[in-house]
Amino acid sequence: MCGVLGILGNFQLKMARDLLLLLTHRGQDAAGLLWSDENSFKTSKAMGNPGKIEVPEISPKHILGSTRYPTTGKRVVSSDDLDTFVGPFNSDDISMTHNGNITNMSSVSNIQVDCDSEFIAERLSIHLKANGGNLPDAFKKLEGEVDGSFSLTGLYQEKLFAYRDSHGFKPLVFGRTKKNTIVASESQVLDMAEVPLERDVYPGELLIFDQKGTMESHSISQNSTHSHCFFEYVYFAHPAAKMENQLVYDVRFRLGRALAHSFLKLNLEVPDYVVPVPDTSRPAAQAMAETLSVPMREIILKNRYLGRTFIAGSQEERNSMAKSKYIYLDDKISGKTILVVDDSIVRGTTAKMIITDLKKRGAAKVYFAATCPPQTHPCYYGIDIATDSELIACTTDINSIADFIGADALIYQEQHTVENAIGLKDLCLACLDGNYPTEHARKIRNNVSQHSSTTNQRDYERDFSQ
Ligand code: SF4
Repeated sequence: MCGVLGILGNFQLKMARDLLLLLTHRGQDAAGLLWSDENSFKTSKAMGNPGKIEVPEISPKHILGSTRYPTTGKRVVSSDDLDTFVGPFNSDDISMTHNGNITNMSSVSNIQVDCDSEFIAERLSIHLKANGGNLPDAFKKLEGEVDGSFSLTGLYQEKLFAYRDSHGFKPLVFGRTKKNTIVASESQVLDMAEVPLERDVYPGELLIFDQKGTMESHSISQNSTHSHCFFEYVYFAHPAAKMENQLVYDVRFRLGRALAHSFLKLNLEVPDYVVPVPDTSRPAAQAMAETLSVPMREIILKNRYLGRTFIAGSQEERNSMAKSKYIYLDDKISGKTILVVDDSIVRGTTAKMIITDLKKRGAAKVYFAATCPPQTHPCYYGIDIATDSELIACTTDINSIADFIGADALIYQEQHTVENAIGLKDLCLACLDGNYPTEHARKIRNNVSQHSSTTNQRDYERDFSQ
């Protein structure tokens, strides 16, 4: 998962940085901007969120932006790492930035790269050199050789391009005015720039835009079914984002309503409050509260100066972030039965901490509801949960998870209600059911089942030949 941005037509660089801030939730490791400056490209990158990127007061013709969440390569730990791991990347005449994860780099080529975005830039550059600069043909070659997810935007020969892999795992949208074309991971970026959303980039479609706003659409590769990541709707994307004609907020609301019906089936005591874990689960908590006719109270407040625990690197870092992540309204807790709603339970760290904190403050009972069903398999397509050992539901049944987190009842979303709430049938649900949509990912799963591991290495970075 990362955020990408591409802008064509003179546009204030500082405003582009503000737009990139709207993609901070997709990656808080580091961020970068690239822009054209006469006959060359300049870049500026910073650790953490995009607000720290230093840029001059200019309005270049071409801009690319990237927020990084590392799923390949290490985390950025010092400014020395910025050029190595943080996009946008240049390779000869092509510049690009990418969201997703490539799982088979070492079987495609033995060129040494530090991350998969650099790998894609290199592969495109090699194909462009070999075919005389034919971009659609270079993408056909790329689709034929790489396995994984890749939504990307870039610059080639003064033009802006956008490509979304044929499975359509990760979102990518665009819009145009007379002056500007903008490509972005999520549509709220276009809203802020006052550029109307035109549509999603279709899976397997390459779009090329010139300075006049003319658009060429090339069908590069077609799959009979697509595999849109359901977790984008549940957790990653901003609630204001529109993806595949769905407002993410509406999907989350429907997830909450479905979860309320699951809660009712359990005949539990009516809670005093429904309480969202900020921020992602707010729409679902509103829907649960409405459906159950119980007030929603925001008694868990977020320490907004911390990042997302999910995006934190080590378990120690996650534990320490989780501890200082929330502030509680103590007066509202004592003696109450509380139904807490969160988007998901990945490692169980946050859920356990919250329930412990609420009980320490005198809560009579704490029920815990997750809008995402149990995640039983790792993700190889852009979330850094790349081993079974990082997922509590991979090895633990629901009753044991409830015991571990200390919940008086645990209510999980069901898989079919996720599909109904999103309203799409062609979803990737691999982290729920193990049905990986790509061949190399299936091979990795097969290898994992035959080779035990004592390291924390990501499954797709392991060498199974030994
Ligand atoms: S495995 Fe899960 S998180 Fe990864 S792309 Fe598929 S649905 Fe999304």
